[in-house]
Amino acid sequence: MGAVLGCIADDFTGATDLAGLLARSGAAVSLRIGVPDESEAETAAEFEVIALKCRTAPVEEAIASCRAALGWLQSAGASRFFWKYCSTFDSTPEGNIGPVAEALMADLGASQTIYCPAFPENGRSIFMGNLFVGQQPLHESPMKDHPLTPMRDANLMRLLAPQVRGEVGLIDRLTVAKGPEAVRAALAEHASNGVAHLVVDAVADADLAIIAEACQDMPLLTGGSAIAQPLPALYAKGQGAPQRGSAPSVPEGALVLSGSCSQMTRAQVAAYLAQAPGYKLDPLELAKSGPGAALNWLKGQAPEQNPLIYATAEPDEVRRAQSELGVSQAGEVVERALAAISVAARDQGTRRFVVAGGETSGAVTSALGVTRLDIREEIAPGVPWCFAKSAGSDIAITLKSGNFGAESFFADALVKLDAS
Ligand code: ADP
Repeated sequence: MGAVLGCIADDFTGATDLAGLLARSGAAVSLRIGVPDESEAETAAEFEVIALKCRTAPVEEAIASCRAALGWLQSAGASRFFWKYCSTFDSTPEGNIGPVAEALMADLGASQTIYCPAFPENGRSIFMGNLFVGQQPLHESPMKDHPLTPMRDANLMRLLAPQVRGEVGLIDRLTVAKGPEAVRAALAEHASNGVAHLVVDAVADADLAIIAEACQDMPLLTGGSAIAQPLPALYAKGQGAPQRGSAPSVPEGALVLSGSCSQMTRAQVAAYLAQAPGYKLDPLELAKSGPGAALNWLKGQAPEQNPLIYATAEPDEVRRAQSELGVSQAGEVVERALAAISVAARDQGTRRFVVAGGETSGAVTSALGVTRLDIREEIAPGVPWCFAKSAGSDIAITLKSGNFGAESFFADALVKLDAS
């Protein structure tokens, strides 16, 4: 039946966030890591999300990868598209939000699009074109000091204008509050004045619902993940609630892998160690002798105990490893070890994986050869269970970055999978 909506996300965690919100509707949502092969187009889900890594790539490179993603999504059957970036409008003075939007518009023959990074549930709101993080304007929020994309202005029109060739305008909250008809009328008026790029105010989910309803037929929408959440229900209108097929069944026995050292993950590891066997990786030992000892330990564990292997450590331990090995080398030995352990576990028959850490997740999915994730039930906001193929077998995997999830996350995940 092909894709209904094709989405392009500028980074991996942004893609999971978007895929999770779309999947809340019950629709079939598939997340692809990178642009898939042409032959994969036949297997498209209703909602396709392609995760790229182009937030801070050189502009031309970002445009090229997004256009390739667009081409694949078109061949998968999509006729409406969504360009997903961060809800804090993370971009450099040159892009890549505006240049990619303009390139996609050109490919689609679209004369107008909207920019709506608002995510009220997470405190991101837009008023009179100014983006707020909680009660702070963007340029006073911690984003002002971001290492790659420091945001020094809160005004989205001023941020966007240098990134695009076309005219930039605003549909403000006073118009949005009047409802979808008023938004449509404002879009038409801007179109007659040749304004192609419209920043749209939203301070609450009700605003997003109005904007999504008004803009649902635009070939291209752009924004944070929240503006896309109402789309599955709108697109399914008249066809009943969206339905995804049943999930494959995967044998019991999970492996929990943690390479995140964030505060919440440290608490999650401590909580889980009270109920399951655990093995702690030491980066210095790994640098010397590799993951052999951990692999031996794993072989001796009963799979139904759902063991945990973790490098998660307190900040002073991390600093010690980093000063001995260097920051990137310390990270790499851990990532490489967790990747090798995941492959060994799969080869021993493990089919359920809980992974903590953004970078760690990238290393593990890549080692397992996972390129497609079918998104299922959320365990915690923003962290769904996913199903994938690894070396020809069905696996269930959840990828949790940094501070997501409650203290009981690892146990919650296992319970949720059994219940689904
Ligand atoms: P998060 O989502 O919490 O940021 P990531 O996996 O993205 O987690 O990043 C954590 C980084 O820290 C990874 O590169 C990981 O390999 C590294 N790391 C994990 N444990 C240790 C440790 N004990 N010492 C040094 N670095 C570590």
